[in-house]
Amino acid sequence: MGQLGPGEESIAPPRDTVLFEVPPIGDWSLALHGGAGGRIQELATEEREAFEAGLSRAWDAGAAVLSRGGAALDAVCAAVEQLEDDPLFNAGRGAALTTDGDAEHDASVMDGATGLAGAIAASRHARNPILLARAVMERSAHLFLVHPTLSLVESWGLETAEQDYFVTEARRAQLARILGDGLVAPRHGTVGAVARDTSGSVAAATSTGGMANQEDGRVGDSPVIGAGTYAMDGQAAVSCTGEGEAFIRGVVSYDIVARMRYLDAGLADAVTATIAEELTAEHASGGLVSVAADGRVVVAHNSPTMFAAFHDGSGLVLRT
Ligand code: ASP
Repeated sequence: MGQLGPGEESIAPPRDTVLFEVPPIGDWSLALHGGAGGRIQELATEEREAFEAGLSRAWDAGAAVLSRGGAALDAVCAAVEQLEDDPLFNAGRGAALTTDGDAEHDASVMDGATGLAGAIAASRHARNPILLARAVMERSAHLFLVHPTLSLVESWGLETAEQDYFVTEARRAQLARILGDGLVAPRHGTVGAVARDTSGSVAAATSTGGMANQEDGRVGDSPVIGAGTYAMDGQAAVSCTGEGEAFIRGVVSYDIVARMRYLDAGLADAVTATIAEELTAEHASGGLVSVAADGRVVVAHNSPTMFAAFHDGSGLVLRT
């Protein structure tokens, strides 16, 4: 194994679950994550403030939508868009690179109000993958598109970008180090948001470059509805980050909602049980942000770290 940087995680063994639960405060709720992978070695600890600034900008974007009575769906997309634009996070610009050095994006969104969802995988052209996932939901007859073409992105009037825009020096250096060290354990990260709006609807959005040094074409849980992303009005919205394969096998985001739906579990109990049974017991690490229909927020991870932003009633909590 090569040297891990401060806060950086490879596929670390899961630890005891860290969980924050915030009872409903106000008439809307929002929570974000910036990945359970930690910052990469190429970005030193002094970048903490930059990570905090990125999370707080994304929070402000989502909160602006919700505080003027906007929809949860608009809020989660606005927040994730900000994190995609920020090169520090593994989504959009600054996405982790595949073995071949390319940025391939996976993203999904689900609207609890309508039960509709949209997802994309191995996307290379949309500047903001989350907006493309939303466009699939709203503008096509489909739910999930793999390798969406440049002409489709353009025909929907979405902004496009070249690989040069997505691929940052820090990610190139990270890939070179991983390849040079012959690391088998790839590094991860992802961004996501959940919200409950003033009308009581919930939504979730997740966007990622996947695992550093993943094979071209590898797809993780982030665009898989029920695994990395799920939202159902009356129950909850969940956005995940971590070892995608385990999240898919454990159908993690839906497992949480199903515990609430069929067992009448509260959100915190559902999250605790799902992490214990579907992740920790499977030796997989990661985390999630979630919001219940009543506005309660639960942020939890069994990974050593998870970047997150949520309001605890007295102020914005930024975990970096
Ligand atoms: N879940 C993402 C994936 O497997 C990576 C991450 O969240 O860290 O692609």
